Amino acid sequence: MKKSIIIIGAGMGGLSAGIYARRNGYETTIFEQHYLPGGQCASYKRKGYTFDVCIHHLFGTEPGSRLYGLWEELGAMPRTLAATNEAVAACSPEGRMYFDYWDSKRLEEHIKELSPADSELAVEYARAIRDFSSADFMGALLMGDYLDVPKMIPRILRHRGLLKLTMQDFGLRFKDEFLKKAFPLLEYSLPEVQLIIHLAKHGYGLTGNIAWPVGASIEFARSIEKTYLDLGGEVHYRQKVSEILTEGGRAVGVRLEDGSEHRADVVISDADGRKTIMDMLGGRFTNEKVRRMCGPPDDEMNWAVHVFLGVDRDLSGEPSALVQLLEEPVDIAAHEAASIEMQMYPFDPTMAPEGKGVIKVELWSRYSYWKELYADRNRYDEEKQKVADTVIDLLENTHFPGIRSQVEVIDVPTLLTWERYTGITWGLGMMPAVQPRMVDAFLGKGYMTLPGLDSFYMVGAFATYGPSLFHNAISGRKTVRALCKRDGRRFIAA
Ligand SMILES: Cc1cc2nc3c(=O)[nH]c(=O)nc-3n(C[C@H](O)[C@H](O)[C@H](O)COP(=O)(O)OP(=O)(O)OC[C@H]3O[C@@H](n4cnc5c(N)ncnc54)[C@H](O)[C@@H]3O)c2cc1C
Repeated sequence: MKKSIIIIGAGMGGLSAGIYARRNGYETTIFEQHYLPGGQCASYKRKGYTFDVCIHHLFGTEPGSRLYGLWEELGAMPRTLAATNEAVAACSPEGRMYFDYWDSKRLEEHIKELSPADSELAVEYARAIRDFSSADFMGALLMGDYLDVPKMIPRILRHRGLLKLTMQDFGLRFKDEFLKKAFPLLEYSLPEVQLIIHLAKHGYGLTGNIAWPVGASIEFARSIEKTYLDLGGEVHYRQKVSEILTEGGRAVGVRLEDGSEHRADVVISDADGRKTIMDMLGGRFTNEKVRRMCGPPDDEMNWAVHVFLGVDRDLSGEPSALVQLLEEPVDIAAHEAASIEMQMYPFDPTMAPEGKGVIKVELWSRYSYWKELYADRNRYDEEKQKVADTVIDLLENTHFPGIRSQVEVIDVPTLLTWERYTGITWGLGMMPAVQPRMVDAFLGKGYMTLPGLDSFYMVGAFATYGPSLFHNAISGRKTVRALCKRDGRRFIAA
């Protein structure tokens, strides 16, 4: 008899687990609380505009690369992709522009032109990017090609002086004051990000292994859902799991919110880790480490209040993303911002009606701030409007004069919105309370099990510390590979 698996959640990890499980002969049923696949890999339409919550950089777009192979297995490639010239651009309050070009030669020339005094640094930086482009560490480590890793190390070691630096540290080496301020913000406005992450990303960008999936995040997720359905997998939307059923230390099924019970040989959860462990399993299968992971975050500051603007303005000359440095810090969404970061999509005609465009501004904020406001819906809505007005004023007074009168659609999802749609405690992208280490994300098992509970696996961002789509897709793959090993089956990937 075929073994059956219940999967909680149709996010990247859940869909991927479903696909590999079907390929390896398991019966699978996914229960998803939302009415769409993809989880955090989400986008939605408003009056002809597409507002994308997720993808900035899709890794694995270069045919023949390891990560492209992963997406092929999942049916997400080949697809129509749009390449961008730069990862992001930065604009000074006076309007000076820095483009973080993927092309290392162009980038080197651009820095030299902006600041001749930084020519030497530009050469060192561009050379490091080229050397990193020959090393697919992330793909090799995550896909288990460990033997290839030693070959990649010598070229990277040429830059050993850079390996311990943060974006902030490297930024301070520029002599030009604008570059000094702009460089630390190039990795999603997080100056503490390790430079090595930035160089690795640039390496992928240089070889065309990063692009944008035309049609936005939801179409990307739908293509994976289609593969799952074509393989005969079942998925039930608007079905929230409230409890994971256990018997004698084994997971044996789930109870849904409507009270119905569904049984299976194995349960895999792609849902939020805290809710899975503490609510669905009642906190019965934990140890000290698991309890710490489920605790409140040290800092609940999160990067996920979005201001989406549909604008009657041609954005075709704009960069794909822009960090606007501000003259004075501004208090916005309970956070003092010295810059604001936005994403635009001039390369994808499906994002807006012809001649128009979308600007997505991403703001740091606190979950508790919005939670408290939500107790009074009027205050909550007023604050969202205030945040949108502040953002529009900032855009009007900096890079986009005239934009106020061009705004046709505004949408301001907050951390509460994302908690509602993805079930993630404290909102989108929130990780376990234990500080994630790079080594866990790249060398971990790729899934999590709980002490004292058999036939149960957790996939997805909480279980892997993996901050990207490919991480969590690989987590589904690794889980099914482990299941196959346990069941004495040869794992079939494609
Ligand atoms: C703002 C932002 C930008 C990002 N940008 C990028 C990017 O540019 N490139 C990139 O590679 N990655 C990016 N990521 C990361 C990527 O989106 C995530 O790593 C990935 O989508 C997480 O997948 P997951 O498997 O953890 O599942 P999730 O996406 O968290 O999905 C979990 C699913 O479980 C469902 N669920 C939860 N509880 C229940 C329940 N009780 N019953 C039934 N269903 C339930 C949810 O509704 C959801 O569909 C970004 C993330 C964010 C937040």
